[in-house]
Parts: sequence; C-alpha cells; structure tokens
Amino acid sequence: MPPSVQTFDVVLVGGGLANAMLASALLTHAPQLRIALVEAGTRLGGNHTWSFHQGDVPAGARAYVEPLIEHRWPAYEVRFPRFARRVQLPYASFTSARLHHCVERAFAQSPQGQLVLGRRAVRVAADRALLEDGSVLTGDLVVDGRGPERFQGDSACRFQKFLGLELSLRRAAPVSEPLLMDARVPQSSGLRFMYVLPFERQRVLIEDTYFSETPDLCEDEIERRILRYAADNGFAIDGVIRRERGVLALPGAVPESPVDRGPLVSGYAGGWFHPTTGYSFASALQLAECVRQYEPRAIFGTGLARLAAAHARQQRYCCWLNRLLYEAFAPERRVHVFERFYGLPLATISRFYALQTSAGDRARIVCGRPPRGFSLARILSNHPSPGSPGVS
Ligand SMILES: Cc1cc2nc3c(=O)[nH]c(=O)nc-3n(C[C@H](O)[C@H](O)[C@H](O)COP(=O)(O)OP(=O)(O)OC[C@H]3O[C@@H](n4cnc5c(N)ncnc54)[C@H](O)[C@@H]3O)c2cc1C
Repeated sequence: MPPSVQTFDVVLVGGGLANAMLASALLTHAPQLRIALVEAGTRLGGNHTWSFHQGDVPAGARAYVEPLIEHRWPAYEVRFPRFARRVQLPYASFTSARLHHCVERAFAQSPQGQLVLGRRAVRVAADRALLEDGSVLTGDLVVDGRGPERFQGDSACRFQKFLGLELSLRRAAPVSEPLLMDARVPQSSGLRFMYVLPFERQRVLIEDTYFSETPDLCEDEIERRILRYAADNGFAIDGVIRRERGVLALPGAVPESPVDRGPLVSGYAGGWFHPTTGYSFASALQLAECVRQYEPRAIFGTGLARLAAAHARQQRYCCWLNRLLYEAFAPERRVHVFERFYGLPLATISRFYALQTSAGDRARIVCGRPPRGFSLARILSNHPSPGSPGVS
C-alpha cells in the first residue's frame, strides 16, 4: 500500500510542554489553521508538575494558560540559614494530566486539528514528518519539539537534578504557600534545597533539588532524605502518591538554533529554556506567542529573528552567571548567591525568571558587595594564566 500523506498548515512533532503551548496558542488565536500534533507516547506531557511565576505569562497567552492552572498562590517563601523572605510574586502550577486534558479538548473542538498519539516520528524535515507506520504529514511549518534529550550541553554544562514525592498527609501541612527554596539543608555537594508545593491542606509535593556538576541521581537515598525532611518539619506523612524526577542541563553556553529555516526547533532542544533554572515554560510561551502571529509559511522572518536574538542575549547573561556560580564559589558556598538574589527587588526577580531582564536588573544582580564565599583565587585557579605550571 502506498504511504498515506496528509496535508496540514502546521505539523508539531513531540507533544511535550513546548509544542502543547504552540498548539494551544494556534488553536486559540488561529482556529482556521489545520494543525497536527504528533506524540510518541499515549499521553501528552510525560510526568511533570510545571510551575511558573505569573510574570512568565505574556498577555496574549493568558487565554490558554488560565485553564491549565490547578494551583495558584499569591506569594511564596524562601528560607536560607541567615535570611528568609515571603516573596510577593504570584506563583502557579499544573500537571501533565491537566495539560493532556486541555490540549486534547482543544483538538476535539477544532474541526481542522488532528492529535496523533502513540506514533513516533522517524524523520522530521522542513516540510514534513515521516511517522514510524510510514505515514507522512506535510506542513507549511514543521516544528520539532522532541524534548531535552536532543539538547547538546557544552563542556561547562552543570545540572539541576531533583526527585519529588507527592505526599498525602494525616493532618494539615505546616505551610500554606510554596516554599520555593528551603536551603537550610546540608550543602555538601553544591547548592541543595527543598522545594515544597502545598497542593491541598493534606497533599504536598516535596522535591529535593541539587545544582550539581554531575547528572547522576541516587533516588533511593534522596527519597529517604525527603521523608526525613518531611518528618522533621511537621509534615505528618500518610503515604507517597506519586514520584517525579528531573535532570536539567544548566549550560555554560547555548548553541544558537537556526531560526531562518525549517524545521523550527522548539522547547528545550531548540535552546528555549532558562539556563540558570532549567525551566522552559516562560520561553515556550514567548515562542508560541511569536509563532501564532504569522502565517505558517511566513514564520522565518524578522519577528522570529528578533525574538531569537533577544532570547540569546538573555541566555548569554544567564550562562555567564552559571559560569560565575561554579567558578567563583566552592560547592558549599553557592547557596549564598541565591540568598543574595532573593533579597533583590520583586520586579527584578520576576523579570529574571521570565528571561526579560533589563540592563538595570542585570547590573543589580551582580553589582555591589559579592555574596559570601566569592573567591577570586578560585576563578584564577580555574583559568591559570599562560606560563603557570602545566599551561603552555
Ligand atoms: C520533572 C520535571 C519537572 C519540571 N518542572 C518544570 C517547571 O516547574 N517549570 C518549568 O518551566 N520547567 C520545568 N521543567 C523543565 C522543562 O520545562 C521540561 O523539561 C519541559 O517538559 C521541556 O519541554 P519540551 O517541550 O522541550 O520537552 P518535553 O516536554 O520533554 O516534550 C518532548 C516530547 O516529545 C516526545 N517525543 C520524543 N521523541 C519523539 C518522536 N520521535 N516522535 C514523537 N514524539 C516524540 C516525547 O515523548 C515528549 O512528550 C521540568 C522538567 C522535569 C523533567
């Protein structure tokens, strides 16, 4: 039998966060388009809890982000050994399950859209995707969003790695707002903190997070640490409902992904993420909001180039911060960098997370008295001058 060929305006390959946001933007704002979304798994979005600051959401994206939100809080806390703050920035989160539900419903309501689940793309080109069953989907615009595994980190790449346990509790949690960073835990191998999201009075997600030189994650040991932390901090554990894990690249440099020809690479693989936090929701929305404003065949123009250039500028700054963090601070001292960061004005914190820093923000983040633990000697030993022993 000849392979089936179907024609669309836009073909999105990979049904994770980035392409789900693109599909949502297009189905909301350009419902006349014929859109296909192809996902290898049987459900969209994998197994994640995605969280974000309200400031990450551009005005045009609110229409399709609002239905996703499962939990929202007016503020969150950070706690360090010598500093604590209630950060009055609204924060929200949603799960893969909700993402799947919302995007599936949007496709069901679109006469032109097609959601293809459980089929892997084996080749992705500028104008078509070849699926494992031999079928071909052609499109004026093809977007490749096949996920973080396709991102190539540089040699200075470090990692944010974490294990999270969603816990049911026997009584009310001792916190009612997120604890974004509880860094009052041992800091032996680099920045480490607990991240707590109280979903309901008796249901929380607790993640043990490490900013580390290596990607390995010792899950059994970390699970024990989370349970110990929970018990020590007044969470009366009833049981573990769900686990999630992540290892996210925090690069020292991000290669620029071409934005002048297809396929357009979206999401983590295309460099659309925050190099310092490993988060990608804000960048996914920025890309979706740009793409939905153009005809699919006219996307490779000045609008996208401008967005990519602004994004690359923000990323270069964050990559420089990453290098500074690792080169100027010993592992157990890196916590002080974040301690200082959370003392900054709310607007600067918000724009930093959204990858929208102004020149003033960028100066404010690094100028002034350096955080405790800053070591010029450590920088110099990481960059020996020519003539030093062993350097030719
Ligand atoms: C556990 C976890 C929690 C995170 N929490 C946050 C958070 O709170 N906030 C935040 O901003 N970021 C968070 N991140 C970081 C980042 O946002 C996610 O990694 C995000 O999912 C990346 O989006 P993506 O679209 O690039 O890739 P993914 O969401 O991983 O999507 C890629 C998709 O492509 C599919 N695929 C792969 N190959 C093929 C193929 N050949 N054919 C068809 N489909 C294919 C995969 O099955 C997958 O569904 C988290 C990451 C993890 C791992």
